[in-house]
Amino acid sequence: MHPHTYAIIGAGPSGLAAARALDVAGIPFVGYEASTGVGGLWDIENPRSTMYESAHLISSRTTTEFTEFPMRSRADYPGHAVMKEYFGQYADAFGLTEHFRFNTRVTDVVRDGAVWSVTAGGPDGERTDTYAGVILANGTLAEPNVPTFPGSFDGEIMHTSAYKSARQLEGKRVLIIGAGNSGCDIAVDAVHHAASVDMSVRRGYYFVPRYLLGKPSDTLNQGKPLPAPIKQFIDSRVLKLFTGDPVRFGFPKPDYKIYESHPIVNTMVLNHLGQGDLDVRADVDRFDGNTVHFRDGSSGDYDLILLATGYTLDYPMVDRAELNWTGAAPSLFLNIFPPTFTGLYVMGMIEASGIGWQGRYEQAALIAAYLRALDRSPAQAAAFRDRVRDEPWPDLTGGYKYLGLDRMSYYVNKDAYRGAVRAATEALVAPAKVRA
Ligand SMILES: Cc1cc2nc3c(=O)[nH]c(=O)nc-3n(C[C@H](O)[C@H](O)[C@H](O)COP(=O)(O)OP(=O)(O)OC[C@H]3O[C@@H](n4cnc5c(N)ncnc54)[C@H](O)[C@@H]3O)c2cc1C
Repeated sequence: MHPHTYAIIGAGPSGLAAARALDVAGIPFVGYEASTGVGGLWDIENPRSTMYESAHLISSRTTTEFTEFPMRSRADYPGHAVMKEYFGQYADAFGLTEHFRFNTRVTDVVRDGAVWSVTAGGPDGERTDTYAGVILANGTLAEPNVPTFPGSFDGEIMHTSAYKSARQLEGKRVLIIGAGNSGCDIAVDAVHHAASVDMSVRRGYYFVPRYLLGKPSDTLNQGKPLPAPIKQFIDSRVLKLFTGDPVRFGFPKPDYKIYESHPIVNTMVLNHLGQGDLDVRADVDRFDGNTVHFRDGSSGDYDLILLATGYTLDYPMVDRAELNWTGAAPSLFLNIFPPTFTGLYVMGMIEASGIGWQGRYEQAALIAAYLRALDRSPAQAAAFRDRVRDEPWPDLTGGYKYLGLDRMSYYVNKDAYRGAVRAATEALVAPAKVRA
């Protein structure tokens, strides 16, 4: 292997963004993808995909697409099949597909001095190759977070990762635990198929309509960001005006301000609550046969429990110490660089409202700028590393006080994050330009 070749693990949006940015920077790479093609979880046939038939973009098309490659679809919120097609077109348009080894799952990523050994199993058996570094882009929404509850349940328990189609709910009394974006999407599916649908929630949520004033609501959110308290003041009032108070529909009052947790872009669920198609229940206390007891003393009988309880970060192929894990997530500079700088880089470890593929591409452009500096201007790369080690890391919260939950441990504010990533990239490339 060429001494300056890098490995990219995963051909989802993040892996493709990494491939494109390295290609633009003239950095050689080999991509590994366990599935048959590109698209990551947007390919519902990918065995690791957590997509379901009814899923569409949650963020709108124009705020989500790669800037240099607009989507052909004119839909504001295209479905997963359109997205899969889009990633295929993106990969083909920029000649990325041929750099990937498909049907090839990486099992081990091990540091060997200054280089990395990548072991993967593919159509030709197992093979180990050596690289200058490795970009992990294996996704953040694949490993289910499965909580345990006291008691035992006699019906079926399924995590949303195994949910594909509303046919799985046909005629069943369904309890959905959790009301995140997937939980609410599935609740809307369920009301048309299940015998009954309840949602058990621990806290209140903010529900953002897909459209405001006839436009995708996230497109009204562009331009210079307002200070957090002003935006929270305005947007919570706008939401009250347009969607009303979710407490009226049975949800608890949120014990946090808007944007301190991920908002739910779904008002259909409120519509169905208003129609009496589903009910909100309190937090689960315990299971007993087919009965679920809730913390408010009420209970209900169910055939199927759907755990819409989210995902945990997982990089099973690499030693946790290499990623500087602290608590529920690796602690990485800009969610990308382990501060030890041993040659591992992480793509896509960001949860944010409105970061889009372009936000992921900007991460990739920063990695490419650093790798280029390593090769062409080592002093510049060393200055970058020194800054990461010696200076405080940028505040990525945008002034919002995020809930102290595991799932929020790698949450960022899109404006603060993209600004910090762009600034870091400019610092890496600007002096090189001056010298030229
Ligand atoms: C229902 C749903 C709706 C969503 N809507 C939006 C939205 O509107 N906007 C938005 O920005 N985000 C949305 N997301 C978030 C989603 O995570 C991102 O859109 C995006 O898919 C992340 O890309 P990724 O490349 O980081 O990860 P993934 O898409 O998960 O891709 C990871 C890839 O790595 C491969 N892989 C994993 N392990 C290995 C291995 N060991 N060896 C080789 N290959 C491996 C997998 O097969 C997969 O192809 C949504 C997610 C879901 C589930």
